[in-house]
Amino acid sequence: MDLSEFIRLLLERKKLDREIYQLSLKVEDFPYCYQVLKAIDGSDGIQRILNPKNCGEIDLAYADLQFQCIQNHKDDLIQKNGKKFLDELTEIGKMRLRVNEISQEKNYQKEYIIGIDLGTTNSVVAYVENEKAETIQNQDGNRITPSTISLNKRTKKFDVGKYAENQKIKNPSETFYSIKRFIGRRSSEFNASFLKQYPFFMRKKNEKIYLYSKSLDKDFTCEEISAQLLIKLKADAEKFLNTKIKKCVITVPAYFDHNQRKATKTAAEIADLTVVRIINEPTAAALAYAIGKKEANSNTLVFDLGGGTFDISLVSSSGDNLDSFSVVATKGDRDLGGDDYSNLLFNFIVKLIKKENSNVLFNTRTYGLIREEVNRVKHALSERESEEFNIPFLPLHKNSDEQEFSFEYEISRPQFESITESLNAKIKSISKKFLNLKSVKSKDINKVVLVGGASRMPFFSEMIEEMTSIIPNIDLNPDEIVALGAAYCAEYKDEKIIVDVNPLSLGVGLIKDKYSVLIPANNLLPTKKSEIFTTVTDLQKSVIFPIYQGERLLASKNIKLGEIHLENILIAERGVPKFDVQFFMNIEGILTVKAIDKDTKSEKVVKIENTLDLQPEEIERLKKLAFDFSNEDKEIVEYRDNVDILEAWMGIFKKYSDPKLSNTDRIILEKIKDCLIRQEKSHEDPLSLSRSLQIIIQEQDSLEKISA
Ligand code: ADP
Ligand code: MG
Repeated sequence: MDLSEFIRLLLERKKLDREIYQLSLKVEDFPYCYQVLKAIDGSDGIQRILNPKNCGEIDLAYADLQFQCIQNHKDDLIQKNGKKFLDELTEIGKMRLRVNEISQEKNYQKEYIIGIDLGTTNSVVAYVENEKAETIQNQDGNRITPSTISLNKRTKKFDVGKYAENQKIKNPSETFYSIKRFIGRRSSEFNASFLKQYPFFMRKKNEKIYLYSKSLDKDFTCEEISAQLLIKLKADAEKFLNTKIKKCVITVPAYFDHNQRKATKTAAEIADLTVVRIINEPTAAALAYAIGKKEANSNTLVFDLGGGTFDISLVSSSGDNLDSFSVVATKGDRDLGGDDYSNLLFNFIVKLIKKENSNVLFNTRTYGLIREEVNRVKHALSERESEEFNIPFLPLHKNSDEQEFSFEYEISRPQFESITESLNAKIKSISKKFLNLKSVKSKDINKVVLVGGASRMPFFSEMIEEMTSIIPNIDLNPDEIVALGAAYCAEYKDEKIIVDVNPLSLGVGLIKDKYSVLIPANNLLPTKKSEIFTTVTDLQKSVIFPIYQGERLLASKNIKLGEIHLENILIAERGVPKFDVQFFMNIEGILTVKAIDKDTKSEKVVKIENTLDLQPEEIERLKKLAFDFSNEDKEIVEYRDNVDILEAWMGIFKKYSDPKLSNTDRIILEKIKDCLIRQEKSHEDPLSLSRSLQIIIQEQDSLEKISA
């Protein structure tokens, strides 16, 4: 090991660790210590001084020492005489090592469960130490990892994150991103023009989307590609925490259905990670802010503007423990995000360049340079009132006189806001609609939380403050909140928990094969729903409630899970007894159904295990079947409903001779009788028949109103 290798290592790791410390003892010569200084300067320690928000005391003390050391030896170093500096640094390293050893002894076998925000655009990992969540730094020294996975043509292996991001221009057909949009979804949900906007190859097979690598001539599932990202996140966490990671909590959008959650879990399994819990992103965000505050009954609005998605959610909680949190309402635009702002700015700049110099050659390199600068300027405008575009060395067409063209342009924040006006208007309109929802209006909102990198744009927080009249919480880093919340959730872990939405509707079968759904599909778990039912024949002695799972409108077409046979019921005319049927589904998918006769208090309970054990393919097949048959089923149900109405009328006719019948009722019945006789002769279908009946009743009603 010579000094240059040592420096390279330092630059790569940007952090003093055990290995570097040991190597540094073998380094004899120190002529390039100034470079070491530069290496250390970008290091974890210094960054912690600049941004001490999320540091423990030991880290701060260490960083302080390192900083002092650099200050003390600045002059030596510049004169390239840095032996003392490195000696001192080594001493600090030793101290740090000892501190590490002591804390490791203390935390012997400490098993971290990491929280992962597996984002569409970026991913972040966090962990909890001494009751405080903190994000980890990846091996390139960043706390955010682009969710981009690229096949490296040379090594034939996957590159992930920053390196993959660079491949978007060089190897677009094998650089995969936005995988979260596809995972766990049926290929028929996407039309060809939507898929076309992605430069990588996608193939539809067996109702699934496959990602194709030409270099390997191989199709990958979205789960497999997403797993590559998770493998990298896991490795980064292992390096950072200096321990093996086996378990994690992963966040998903609140609108993710059972299959999307299950596929996310599969991706983690491929990456050799056990998912102890999947939680909703807005829940994680609200949790990160609520932790330790012991607020009773808080209602938090979470606005999340990510790279390609905008989600608003209302999270209600009755404490700061995870089970007290639930997403009450959610809305958004799955195709609107920070990257659309970049795109509009990009188009604007391309136009300007074309206008300024018609000789500029627009190739992939040019577009790449512009895109990079556009993103930089967009981010800068979140902090400053104006920023300068500076793109030197744009290539020109061969026949032009000059060699290169430099583009410079100053843009102000209001100008940027006017270029992106259409997006701002969209966000405003969606937010307004959400705030006007009954379920949102009825709640006392006491907190607003901004999430997602693009929520840093000042217009965004200003607009939300104006609409909600609440100053948004911005204490936590908007890119990191979700991961921090996930890490807190891992601290409250409950190992058995896997999926927290109900995959297919659950309900009871009624007379004439009607299906009454109690727990709809995608309902968050745990959940409790109940409904009151009655008898259909006079003097009925018992009732049976068959329990079904599925989306078909006719009960018998669904999966029968069991039934409840309730005896000792109130014996009375039909419609009089009242049965309270309750469905309770816990987070593991165990369904408990209880039926109680409200009069006799007779009750029965059945427990149905493993309602979540269905394979994703089976769930998809059942959903598709329900969709294909929806019109047919609907007609049958409508027909039967109308027959029911007619039968009800027939019941009333039986009482026609009842002397207590009022005059008005008698007139209606006369009319209806005529109608029925007329229709019976013409064999009209029950639907139009019941419509005629309704008209008669309405006419009579209005006549009564006039006479009154
Ligand atoms: P996701 O949740 O979709 O993975 P993120 O929350 O990481 O995404 O948000 C990424 C988006 O945030 C990108 O469009 C990025 O350009 C944008 N962004 C990040 N920082 C800033 C900033 N300072 N100003 C404006 N936009 C930003
Ligand atoms: Mg996000």
